[in-house]
Amino acid sequence: QRVFIGLTGGIGSGKSTVSKMLADKGIAIVDADKISRELTHANGLAIPAIREVFGDEVITEDNALNRAVMRGIVFSRPEAKKTLEGIMHPLIREQMIEQALSAQESPYIVFDIPLLIESVDRYRSWLTRICVVDCEEETQIARVQARNGLSREEVLHILRNQATREERKRYADDMINNGNMINLSMLAEQVNHLHHQWLALHTA
Ligand code: ATP
Repeated sequence: QRVFIGLTGGIGSGKSTVSKMLADKGIAIVDADKISRELTHANGLAIPAIREVFGDEVITEDNALNRAVMRGIVFSRPEAKKTLEGIMHPLIREQMIEQALSAQESPYIVFDIPLLIESVDRYRSWLTRICVVDCEEETQIARVQARNGLSREEVLHILRNQATREERKRYADDMINNGNMINLSMLAEQVNHLHHQWLALHTA
């Protein structure tokens, strides 16, 4: 039985930092955002289907998704978002499975899925554990502002369109506290602790 860990958390909560710590221990990380970007890069696997459904105007000259044009379409026709997701989700799933299959040597596999809770029904049946990186909203705002130079309102807008902290906690089998008071060595300590628990699932 393979051990599959779903890692999630709101924007700026610290998912990438945790993933990196686990990758440094030799654990295979399947990154849903990265897969999604690659599918829509130049000659990406999602490009033919997107062109078919939305037309040539959403595809750039080098055969990539034109994100600005797509954003405009989704903004004016909200149902277009569902259509795009309908194309992307099966392809993301396929790539996740492929990457998981090619990581046989990893004792467990971490699936870094920012919007896991928002699509929890798609994921919970096959994930062994759901691990939530938790922190206060104010900390998320401060970290994202420091990183991207977004305004407070822009970060709040993103936060309001994601699952709430309470919703995430409801599905969490494991939690990592990465709040305001947590420095990187305190974070690493928690990650190390979970790492050993997850290793034990593999050998159990
Ligand atoms: P996103 O969803 O936006 O990709 P994320 O959840 O992957 O974000 P990270 O990129 O890991 O979050 O962290 C956001 C920022 O906060 C980064 O610049 C990171 O270095 C910093 N950070 C994360 N955790 C801590 C911490 N405990 N102490 C100090 N800085 C931190």
